Amino acid sequence: MDFRLTPEEEKFRQEVHQFIETECPPSLRGGGGNFFSNAGDYISWRKKLAGKGWIAPAWPKEYGGAAMTVMEQFVYNMETARMRAPAPIYIGGLGVAVLGPTILVYGNEEQKQEYIPGILSGEDMWCQGFSEPESGSDLASLKTRAVRDGDDYVINGQKIWTTLAHMSKYMLCLCRTDPDAPKHKGISYFVVPMNSPGVTVRPLINMAGGHEFNEVFFEDVRIPAKNLLGEENRGWYMAVTTLDIERSNIGSAVGQNQSVEDLINFAKEHKGNGQSELAVNPKIRTELAERLIETECSMMLSYRLITMQNRGLIPNYEASATKLYSMELNQRIANTGIKLLGMYGQLGRGSKYEPLKGRLQYQYLRSVANTIEGGTTEIQKNIVATRGLDLPRE
Ligand SMILES: Cc1cc2nc3c(=O)[nH]c(=O)nc-3n(C[C@H](O)[C@H](O)[C@H](O)COP(=O)(O)OP(=O)(O)OC[C@H]3O[C@@H](n4cnc5c(N)ncnc54)[C@H](O)[C@@H]3O)c2cc1C
Repeated sequence: MDFRLTPEEEKFRQEVHQFIETECPPSLRGGGGNFFSNAGDYISWRKKLAGKGWIAPAWPKEYGGAAMTVMEQFVYNMETARMRAPAPIYIGGLGVAVLGPTILVYGNEEQKQEYIPGILSGEDMWCQGFSEPESGSDLASLKTRAVRDGDDYVINGQKIWTTLAHMSKYMLCLCRTDPDAPKHKGISYFVVPMNSPGVTVRPLINMAGGHEFNEVFFEDVRIPAKNLLGEENRGWYMAVTTLDIERSNIGSAVGQNQSVEDLINFAKEHKGNGQSELAVNPKIRTELAERLIETECSMMLSYRLITMQNRGLIPNYEASATKLYSMELNQRIANTGIKLLGMYGQLGRGSKYEPLKGRLQYQYLRSVANTIEGGTTEIQKNIVATRGLDLPRE
């Protein structure tokens, strides 16, 4: 195995490094994820990235992307993580990662012209209306109805856990259009303007105190029929083949490694006095060593995905195994960190006694959702068991 970059890749890495070094506002560097509190810097960094096509690195150039190869994206994501600049997924958001690519693949020319520029410039936020109160893992059971009425569709129903719905201009929404068809065959994909009469967004506050997701209600919401994406009743197949811009997960593997390094440095600096008596506790020392080894495993799993993609293969159960391992590792790292910091670990940002800039408290609480969002632990295990290990279905 030779993990070194080729001379061209190394040159590109230096270009990314230099750009972040000179252009990325310092307030956004350093990790921790809470970029939205520096809205001005966030918008200015976003504009600079857009200028280079680096908000949507994988997209074709004619749509404002950078048409980066798989390896270039890998180098770009890795260097961004190493420099502790906001991960590309935080800058482009779901609009770039999932929803824009769906429109690029399945939308007609008019839809592309109407929606893509706003996604890239960052002016239009998008949200993903998939989950419902009774439909999460078993998404194909969703009940929100869209009924054709002349030149419109009329939508009734409810979505839940909709990330950033309160800041979004549009929702890409899955609705049932044929209730009599088998459940996968009666679903369609719609663009719903969030300011349509009859749309109500109610906040859901997560246990870390953040307003990320929402409930969204539709009461006789009328949208033009031209907002249907692709063919009617083919929405399910489009949703499952939606492209993903960052499948390698390398950004989070590098970030995990940095988080553990931060904890190790903290333990060294405090040597059992001051903020953490636990820093010299043998159990914590062993845990820190285990976490560091695990971040290397996480890195190797990411390398496996990138190697597959580079060879033109599409990771399947391999991506599930990586997601599962990485998200559980996030929780273990946060757990070890909270133990290491003892009572101080509970202090959030803003306290004058906060260790590690108060990151751990947020990380610990937020990481609970990691094994739910984007497909739960059990669903990933089912995929690994049936597709990876070829075990029989129940
Ligand atoms: C932070 C966060 C952000 C999110 N953002 C969005 C968003 O923007 N848009 C959106 O549409 N959704 C979003 N979601 C919703 C997310 O996709 C769902 O929560 C997830 O798919 C699980 O669905 P559920 O909550 O209905 O749980 P359920 O599917 O009801 O699962 C409940 C439990 O049963 C287990 N289970 C279910 N089926 C099986 C099975 N076949 N085998 C074994 N165990 C099973 C699950 O693993 C889980 O432990 C978000 C969720 C979170 C936590």
